[in-house]
Amino acid sequence: MSHGKMEELRGRLDSVNLQLLELLSERARIAQEIGQEKEKQGVPKYDPVREKKMLDELVALNKGPFDNETIRHLFKQVFQASLKLQQTDHVKHLLVSRKRHKEDTVVSVGDIAVGGGKPILVAGPCSVESYEQVRKTAAVLKASGISVMRGGAFKPRTSPYDFQGLGVEGLKILKEVASEFGLKTISEIVDPAHVELACEYIDVIQIGARNMQNFELLKAAGDVRTPVLLKRGLAATIDEFLHSAEYIVSRGNTQVMLIERGIRTYERATRNTLDISAVPILKLESHLPVLVDVTHSTGRKDIMGPCARAALAAGADGVMVEVHPDPATALSDAAQQMNFDEFRRFLEEVGLQA
Ligand code: PEP
Ligand code: MN
Repeated sequence: MSHGKMEELRGRLDSVNLQLLELLSERARIAQEIGQEKEKQGVPKYDPVREKKMLDELVALNKGPFDNETIRHLFKQVFQASLKLQQTDHVKHLLVSRKRHKEDTVVSVGDIAVGGGKPILVAGPCSVESYEQVRKTAAVLKASGISVMRGGAFKPRTSPYDFQGLGVEGLKILKEVASEFGLKTISEIVDPAHVELACEYIDVIQIGARNMQNFELLKAAGDVRTPVLLKRGLAATIDEFLHSAEYIVSRGNTQVMLIERGIRTYERATRNTLDISAVPILKLESHLPVLVDVTHSTGRKDIMGPCARAALAAGADGVMVEVHPDPATALSDAAQQMNFDEFRRFLEEVGLQA
């Protein structure tokens, strides 16, 4: 082949490359628009039936020289790249993302603002055990200037033989004591069927670490307008955590708080590993308030103070701790709950009073 002929063919090839590039870009833009439409309609991005139809039509019209297998392969690559583009667009636009909503979300727990600049402290027993136990705790919280009390009525326990909580009876105790002391309450709900009922008794629905990806529970919490405290899963990535929050917010409940409670690692010096870096990352990636549970993360009363201070220094909007009138006799988490003296010392150390 003469040099001139080669040059001429290469020139034609370059020009076809350019045309292909323009067509691919045009195709990608159309795919993005389709992605946005699918987003609005809430239908999945990947449609295998439509993809098969497109491939079959292309193969039927193929006149060579590429064989059908090659045509299928090449177009599948194009389809996959388009799908990836649609999915990237989708991630960029999660409702919980700061890219979507620049300002901090402030969650209103009655007249208490969470995420509004002043950090809050959530304290109370691991489990609601009796009216007296909750009442004694509430009195100490009130005297310390704490306004939000926690207490588990439905307990997700590792062993079915362990105390499972008082159920609705526990929610009733929380409500009665809270109204006597003017406190707000947080309690974990484990069954989607209990979400509506819980709203009558408590001010914040907690979704526990074990249920972070219980999608039916997330949807049920998204369908009410009571604030939700969503705990990070035992081994959940930050991305999975944010997607779980998205389940709630996408159903219309924008009042969601995230709480880091430690993740499972090889380390045994603490109950879980408190991922303090999750705090600034969540604050950067999301506009939702971020809290840190220093009780379930560390499982150690001797380091809860420094860990709470670290959480606040990292930008947390609040801290959660467990307090019990007599931890030694507690029906759950006996080793890690503070007694009232320890709690008062903790408050002094952290400087979180009203
Ligand atoms: C709790 O806060 O009562 C609890 C069970 O914590 P976690 O879901 O983080 O284990
Ligand atoms: Mn506990």
